[in-house]
Amino acid sequence: MIIDFKKYSSVRIGEAFEVEVLDTKREFEGFIIGGANNLLVSPSPKKLALLGKEFDFIEVIEQNSSFCTLKIGCACNAKKIYLFAKEHNLAGFEFLGKIPGLLGGLLKMNAGLKEENISKNLLSISTADKELLKEDCAFSYRCCGVKKVMFEAIFSLKYGFDEQKDEALKQARNNQPNGASFGSIFKNPKDDFAGRLIEVVGLKGFKKGDAMISKKHANFLINTKNASFDDALFLIELAKKRVFEEFGIHLEKEVIII
Ligand SMILES: Cc1cc2nc3c(=O)[nH]c(=O)nc-3n(C[C@H](O)[C@H](O)[C@H](O)COP(=O)(O)OP(=O)(O)OC[C@H]3O[C@@H](n4cnc5c(N)ncnc54)[C@H](O)[C@@H]3O)c2cc1C
Repeated sequence: MIIDFKKYSSVRIGEAFEVEVLDTKREFEGFIIGGANNLLVSPSPKKLALLGKEFDFIEVIEQNSSFCTLKIGCACNAKKIYLFAKEHNLAGFEFLGKIPGLLGGLLKMNAGLKEENISKNLLSISTADKELLKEDCAFSYRCCGVKKVMFEAIFSLKYGFDEQKDEALKQARNNQPNGASFGSIFKNPKDDFAGRLIEVVGLKGFKKGDAMISKKHANFLINTKNASFDDALFLIELAKKRVFEEFGIHLEKEVIII
């Protein structure tokens, strides 16, 4: 299928490219995309694929008085998982109400908010040829060591959807800007915040073409209208360079450039 990344990606940058659909579990040599909420797509990306709708499901595979075990397809989106957990009174997915993405992308990025993250209640992940236990997936901050396409994952959740946590996590979003973005540009360095460092070097609100370092939160790059790949890349590199010059800190990109 053809995907126009100017429409599909959350930052609304990119051209239209052929994307292979994986509708069965099989190996793929190239770059697998999810919902493209963490991607900046260049004019010459690698060979691309995404998961077919066969992997958009949530299945209860075991239930007892303490736990509910779910198998979820990696094409399932965060909002659907959040709503399922809410409807079935399950704890642990409250944070997914506010993070855009499909399960494959959430797992690969170990996506999270505050002290919550997607790997917390995970038991295992299936790739084309293996069932990997969580312990073998090398999860860390916004990172997962699995290099292959992930098709399904199994989670064990306690009962008790936490309305208070749900509300608190929604409030935690209030400092994030509206507008087309790919979420955080950089991972937060140890004991600091990338947004604070970029703000201190004076780049808040700085523009290149239609790309802008957000005036509200400096770790967000906003496509104000028709930003190009080069505009976005320029600002990312500029922020990295300025922060290094000023603080000697190497900011590590969270956005994935393909
Ligand atoms: C407004 C906004 C707010 C955000 N807030 C947060 C936040 O609070 N916390 C947070 O953690 N993130 C946040 N993000 C970033 C983004 O939501 C997450 O990184 C999310 O996990 C991306 O999922 P995706 O499906 O869009 O993945 P993509 O962006 O498409 O891909 C991300 C990575 O996942 C890999 N991938 C995708 N599918 C698979 C698969 N099936 N198997 C193997 N690898 C796969 C890709 O190859 C790529 O490396 C935000 C983004 C936006 C736009």
